[in-house]
Amino acid sequence: LDDLKKNNQQTARESPSDMMNFRKKKLGGKRTVSSNFVSPLRQSENSSSSSCLNVPPALAQLDPKMVEQILGESMHDFKPVAWEDIAGLESAKSTFLEAIIMPLRRPDLFTGVRCPPRGVLLFGPPGTGKTLIAKSIASQAKAKFFSINPSSLTSKWVGEAEKLVKTLFAVAAAHQPAIIFIDEVDSLLSKRSGNENESTLRLKNEFLIHLDGAASNEETRLLVIGATNRPQELDEAVRRRFVRRLYVPLPTKEARQKIIEKIIRQVKHNLDDFEIHQLSEFTDGYSGADVDSLCRYASMAPLRALTPNQMETIESHQLPAVTMDDFKQALRVISKSVSAEDCQQFEAWNDVYGVRH
Ligand code: ADP
Repeated sequence: LDDLKKNNQQTARESPSDMMNFRKKKLGGKRTVSSNFVSPLRQSENSSSSSCLNVPPALAQLDPKMVEQILGESMHDFKPVAWEDIAGLESAKSTFLEAIIMPLRRPDLFTGVRCPPRGVLLFGPPGTGKTLIAKSIASQAKAKFFSINPSSLTSKWVGEAEKLVKTLFAVAAAHQPAIIFIDEVDSLLSKRSGNENESTLRLKNEFLIHLDGAASNEETRLLVIGATNRPQELDEAVRRRFVRRLYVPLPTKEARQKIIEKIIRQVKHNLDDFEIHQLSEFTDGYSGADVDSLCRYASMAPLRALTPNQMETIESHQLPAVTMDDFKQALRVISKSVSAEDCQQFEAWNDVYGVRH
């Protein structure tokens, strides 16, 4: 346990780039013919039943295959996401900084009544930056990021999904500070319906037990972030556990402009400020992901215009610039994916259950 604590303190001090190197291990110094065998694993790892990943001793009693699967598939390293990478959503960002990020960074200051919430729900239309926010929180809190998708969880581990949830929480706790991100949380924790089978119910209960466990243990620096496009599907018990429920709406005109500017900076283009501003107006009702698709589609236009022969021989600096006409063409192909009625439903749910920020 002491080793584990030291390990965690070490992780908390590491920079994001150190975190990326998390799995790099030293395999020991040079051995001569006469020296004794030295295992390449650290002492603690020798006692673990798992052989190829860094499995802390606290996890040794769990199913090693599941632990490895979680470390291999659910624990993600990614390029750190800064707040500036997320356009708009200013008030959500400041809420998170105060309520979530600082407590994960300075748990000693946030105890007792100041203890932070352990469950956060991000709801809103698809492609509005919920995943980006979760990753940015993890980057800024220097936390490990575990991401699961319930549909793959339940289909891959039929009958064992419960055990997987238990293992997931144990692995995350051993790597704290940690964030467990559950995309499409509604598909796992939806309203209890009459025809729900017993294994789904057990899975759901297992989740609630662990959410409660994380909430009641001040020592654990574990945050569960659920994301959903269908908040109305969540049952009351689940909704209550996600103490902070934040609406992530469609981007404003200013936010859309920032997204466009950031993406087209990567290619040669001849759009001036006025045209970029016009594009932010033409994309009213688009989600961040829609705007991203639009810019990508327009950026492909110079390549699309090439003959197969030119495609083989052209140098990248010879490519023509992306034009406003390319964007106008893209606007005909890439349309918005969220309807005004959908947005009204989110707003109505937000009025009743969302937190003000
Ligand atoms: P969600 O989780 O809400 O479905 P994502 O966070 O996965 O959406 O966003 C999908 C993509 O859309 C991102 O990778 C990014 O390119 C773009 N995007 C969405 N919202 C924003 C935003 N507010 N700022 C910058 N990019 C955004």
